[in-house]
Amino acid sequence: MIVEMRAGSPQEEVDAVVQQAKSLGFDAQLNLGTNKTVVAILGHNTGQLPTDIFAILPGVEQVTRIMKPYKLAAREFKTGNSVVSIDGIKVGSKRFVIMAGPCAVESEEQLITAAKIVKEAGACILRGGAFKPRTSPFAFQGLEEAGLTMLQKAKGQFNIPVITEVVDPHDVELVSKYADILQIGARNMQNYALLTKVGKSKHAVVLKRGLSATIKEWLTAADYLLAEGNTKVILCERGIRTFEDSTRFSLDIGSIPVIKKSSHLPLIVDPSHAAGHYSLVPAMAKAVVAAGADGLLIEVHPNPKKALVDGLQSLTPSDFIRLMKELKPIAEAVGRYI
Ligand code: PEP
Ligand code: MN
Repeated sequence: MIVEMRAGSPQEEVDAVVQQAKSLGFDAQLNLGTNKTVVAILGHNTGQLPTDIFAILPGVEQVTRIMKPYKLAAREFKTGNSVVSIDGIKVGSKRFVIMAGPCAVESEEQLITAAKIVKEAGACILRGGAFKPRTSPFAFQGLEEAGLTMLQKAKGQFNIPVITEVVDPHDVELVSKYADILQIGARNMQNYALLTKVGKSKHAVVLKRGLSATIKEWLTAADYLLAEGNTKVILCERGIRTFEDSTRFSLDIGSIPVIKKSSHLPLIVDPSHAAGHYSLVPAMAKAVVAAGADGLLIEVHPNPKKALVDGLQSLTPSDFIRLMKELKPIAEAVGRYI
């Protein structure tokens, strides 16, 4: 249930709403907007609460029942769109944000070369996995902390923030020391211990959609991050498993307008993991810009033929430079800039 306060309502009135919720055994979370506060009433069976219990209190403008499993990620909880700022780069603003780099950090030379390429081509955030969640335990698992220090070096050298995945709740502190954005991978979307830990860290986070998660399940997973007070949550569509096997995953372009309708959170899209093949990535990336997402996460490798992970879906430097040029007029056509 969402309780919207009147613009400029004093703190005592907001406190009274929170008090009312607590006295009934519910939790309350505040969203402090620039001129009005929204209170989410959280707990089991809020459906049984009459809305009048809150509507009658002074300063309350409107009480809305949210019959959705997710509350804090819901559009009703917040007036306007959330914007997540990373070193001044605002994800969810008019700027369309490109995050790019290799799937995995493989060596200092590989990462520095990749960072130079993507930065010069116009990407504003560098990606690179140091902890890799691999389907097989025998596959390359990443350089771990050594990989993180390489990301730190590339960040310093090219003045570019970095995003990297955290797979284990115990590593959240360590990865947060190096990363500007923590990535929660598709395979961990419902790892509630990890979500809670990253929520508590208050670090900017990209939450990928699970391989077979519905949009509802994905937004409910985002609630785990938001419930801990982390407001810097970015969603990432990366394709889902369907019966279609000509792409690695089916890119759900439809989730872009659905998320925009249902949630205030910014949304980026990873066409690389959906495509599974470099030749399919540019068309998907263009569709993503046109469909109204807030950014892209793209795998780019200095030499995909030598990549240890995901070489087939990684763009070469020249492909990436070309794509960046092609994306710009599309962004402009939908009122954005890159
Ligand atoms: C990745 O971004 O390298 C990755 C492993 O992605 P996903 O979690 O979407 O499979
Ligand atoms: Mn990858």
